[in-house]
Amino acid sequence: MERRPLIAGNWKMHLTSDQAVALARTIADAASDVADRDVMIAPAFTSLPAVAEVLADSPVLLGAQNVAWEEQGAFTGEVSPVMLREFGVSLVIVGHSERRHIFGETDDLINRRLCGALRFGLVPILCVGETLEDREDGITMQILEQQVRSGLAGVEAGDMARVVIAYEPVWAIGTGKTASKEQAQEAHRFIRSVVGNLYEKKLAQQVRILYGGSVKPENVDSLMAEPDIDGALVGGAALKSESFARIIHFI
Ligand code: PGA
Repeated sequence: MERRPLIAGNWKMHLTSDQAVALARTIADAASDVADRDVMIAPAFTSLPAVAEVLADSPVLLGAQNVAWEEQGAFTGEVSPVMLREFGVSLVIVGHSERRHIFGETDDLINRRLCGALRFGLVPILCVGETLEDREDGITMQILEQQVRSGLAGVEAGDMARVVIAYEPVWAIGTGKTASKEQAQEAHRFIRSVVGNLYEKKLAQQVRILYGGSVKPENVDSLMAEPDIDGALVGGAALKSESFARIIHFI
C-alpha cells in the first residue's frame, strides 16, 4: 500500500505575521518542485490569513495548531473549524504534547477536537507519544494504545481514512534527541496494529503515521526509509527555511 508522504511544519508560538509571510514564501518556493508528497505548514492563528495568501498558488497546504469542535459559541480563547476553513486551512494538529502537558488537555477533550475537525471537513493530525518516564517504566505501548483509542473514539471507518496520526515521543520534542529509527518504527508499527484492531487491517494500511521529535536534515532520510513512517511533524527545523527545504526533499 503506497501512502503519500506528508511533511508538516509546526511553527508553534513563533513569528509575527510579517515574519511568517517571509518564511512561507521561501517554503512555497522550495516546495514548488515536489509532486509525490504533501507539505504543510501550521503558523500561529494570527498569521493564518496572511500566510493563506502566500500559499494561494502553491502546493503547500495550510494547517492550524489546534481547533475547537463547534461552529461558534461561548468558547473564549478558541477558534472554530469553520473559522479555519474560511482561510483555506485543510489540516489541524490535535493533542500535541504541549497541549496535553502545558495546557492540561485530556484524551476526552482531544477526541472532541478531532471529531469537530472531521465534522467540518478538516484533516486532523492526532499526536500521541510517551514521556521519558513512561518509556523507562516500560509502558510506552500501553500509553500509545490508550491515546490512540481514546483519540479516535466514535470515529467511523469512513472518516478514519482521512485521519493522520503523529507519533511524537515527548522526550524527543525540542530536545535534539531523536528516537532511533528502530524505536520509531516499532512505535509506528504498533500504532498501525492498534488502528487495525479498531477498524480493518486494510484501512490501517492507508493511515499515514508521521514521526515527530527533533526531525532534522541529518536524520530525515533514515527515518523516512522505515516502512511504517509516512512523514514527519517538524518543530524547530521547520522555522529554518534551509533545513525545512531539505526535509521536504527527503530521499
Ligand atoms: P521539534 O518539535 O521538531 O522541535 O522536536 C516537534 C513537534 O513538537 O511537533
